[in-house]
Amino acid sequence: MTSPTGLLSDLDRVLLSADAIRDRVREMAARIAADYQGSVVTVVVLMDGALFFVADLLRQLDLPIRLVTLSASSYHGGTASTGEVRVQWPEAVEFAGQHVLLLDDIYDTGLTLSALRARLLTERPASLRTGVLLAKKRPRAAEVPLDYRGFEIEDEFVVGYGMDYQGRFRNLPCIGILKP
Ligand code: 5GP
Ligand code: MG
Repeated sequence: MTSPTGLLSDLDRVLLSADAIRDRVREMAARIAADYQGSVVTVVVLMDGALFFVADLLRQLDLPIRLVTLSASSYHGGTASTGEVRVQWPEAVEFAGQHVLLLDDIYDTGLTLSALRARLLTERPASLRTGVLLAKKRPRAAEVPLDYRGFEIEDEFVVGYGMDYQGRFRNLPCIGILKP
C-alpha cells in the first residue's frame, strides 16, 4: 500500500498495517450486523479521529443506518486531564427510542466516551452500545463498557488512519508510532 509522500518517513514504526486494520474492521462489521439484525442503527461518530474507521466500517455493514457526527473536546490543565468534556450537541437529531451505536477511535482515559454515553442516555435511546478501534492498556479515569473493540494497544501515542499529531498524519493508511 502506498502512503502520502513523507508521512511514513516520520514514523518510528508501524503498529498496525492497513491490511490488518481492514481485516479487523471487516470482522467488527460482521459482529455488529449480527447483533443488530432487523434494527435500524443510529451510528454516532466522534469526529475527527473516528472518521476513517467509521467510513470503512459502515461500508462493510449490512444494516440500515442513520449517521450522526459529533464533535467533543476535552480540556486539559497541564499534564492532567480536568475531566471536562465539551460536546457540540446536534439539537435537531432524535435519539429517543433509537438503537444508538457510539463509535470512537481510541479508548484512552475514558473521559470522552463516558461523558458522551451519559449525555446520550439522557435522550432515552432504546439501546446504547459503544465501540472503538483501539483500546489502550492503561488505568482509566472513567470506565466505559465497550461492546466492540478492534485492537488492544500499549499506552503509546499513535497516529494515522484518522488520528493526528498537531493536525497531521490523519491520512496515513496505517497506524504507527512517531519518531521521538
Ligand atoms: P479519552 O479516552 O482520554 O477521553 O480521549 C480519547 C481521545 O483522545 C480520542 O478520541 C483521541 O482523539 C485522543 N487520543 C487518545 N490517545 C491518542 C493517541 O494515541 N493518538 C491520538 N492521535 N489521539 C489520541
Ligand atoms: Mg477523538
